[in-house]
Amino acid sequence: MSMNETPRSNRLHIALFGRRNAGKSSVINAIVKQDIAVVSPVLGTTTDPVYKAMELLPIGPVVLIDTAGLDDEGELGELRKQKTYEVLNKTDMALLIIDSTVGVTAFDRDIADKLRSKSIPAIAVLNKIDLLPHGSEESLKQLAVAAKEELNLLPIPVSAAVGQQGISELKKAITQAVPDEEDKFRIVGDLLSPGDLVVLVVPIDKAAPKGRLILPQQQVIRDILESDAISVVTKEHELRQTLESLGRKPRMVITDSQVFLKVAADTPKDIPLTSFSILFARHKGDLEQLVRGARAIDGLKDGDKVLIAESCTHHQQPDDIGKVKIPRWILQATGKQIQFDFANGMKFPDNVRDYSLIVHCGGCMLNRRQMLWRIEQAEEAGVPIVNYGVAIAHVQGILERAISPFPLARLAWEESGVL
Ligand code: SF4
Repeated sequence: MSMNETPRSNRLHIALFGRRNAGKSSVINAIVKQDIAVVSPVLGTTTDPVYKAMELLPIGPVVLIDTAGLDDEGELGELRKQKTYEVLNKTDMALLIIDSTVGVTAFDRDIADKLRSKSIPAIAVLNKIDLLPHGSEESLKQLAVAAKEELNLLPIPVSAAVGQQGISELKKAITQAVPDEEDKFRIVGDLLSPGDLVVLVVPIDKAAPKGRLILPQQQVIRDILESDAISVVTKEHELRQTLESLGRKPRMVITDSQVFLKVAADTPKDIPLTSFSILFARHKGDLEQLVRGARAIDGLKDGDKVLIAESCTHHQQPDDIGKVKIPRWILQATGKQIQFDFANGMKFPDNVRDYSLIVHCGGCMLNRRQMLWRIEQAEEAGVPIVNYGVAIAHVQGILERAISPFPLARLAWEESGVL
């Protein structure tokens, strides 16, 4: 897959924090300058953080986030600062840029605390070492000690504006500090052993894009191949024949949800079966929590309010999934009088506690950290949360089988049913 096709949500998000004029942008520019393959920058407004997508070797596709200064002042400054802190919720790793001529300040200590409390790996970049007076090795040493002891961060001295001094070392340090999320949160690879057979069922109907497979299907195939397992792709009509001709039992069958019932009928009960949307619900979020949220659909009563939350404002279809289909299915499944409200964006409305359930979109534009943060916000408010994929599986009566490959989710399902 070329980097242009790597969705932003799948890229590692590296955010740069620091005081105004600490040289955040020049550090970004220095990192970017060494790589030819720079994707055009996505410019924000003055109050918004700036995102730059690029390929950072050997890590791969990343997004560098330039934030406003932590010491920004005035009313607008406050707003910018708030946006800077919000960036923490989508940060996979952080660079704290410190002006070597100023030293470690209270702002740096504050953000280092916040990073630590969120378990975000970070590096202290001691910038502008070219501006230190000659013979000031001693003060640089002291600064490095302060970064280590006061901030608890690995210090890397650089001069981003002049001669790119230290930038290669910085990149090496970033590579080493990158959290190994990919391995921890595989789409399906963690369930597979080398040589396992996995059958994918992909309907090719009018809705399927011409001449290619959709991204989630490609990503699952890629993940299976990376596990040295074998991926067999078939349409629903050929599934039975495919299973018969395999010669051994596949490790699992993964299907598009639209044909789940047919696929369930054609797949022997002793073969684990799940859907692409359940795999991605697990990959992106906390499947156990979402499964508990699905149970909450059954508990809805007359007069209850349900919040449908989408994290971006996408173009709405006449038969929109969030606006039309999900409410219709929930009304049909429960037979209750339920009021639906709709919210867009990264924040839930202030009255979120008034809801009996949040039904969240699939979050295709969110990274895992962001999706987990949304789930956490719901949890804090004491409101069950489910996403589209899990909710749809439940109202169609296929959830129980579709979570069969995931023991923890199965347990969460059983336990929430007892309560
Ligand atoms: S599923 Fe993706 S496109 Fe749809 S609202 Fe959520 S983030 Fe936007």
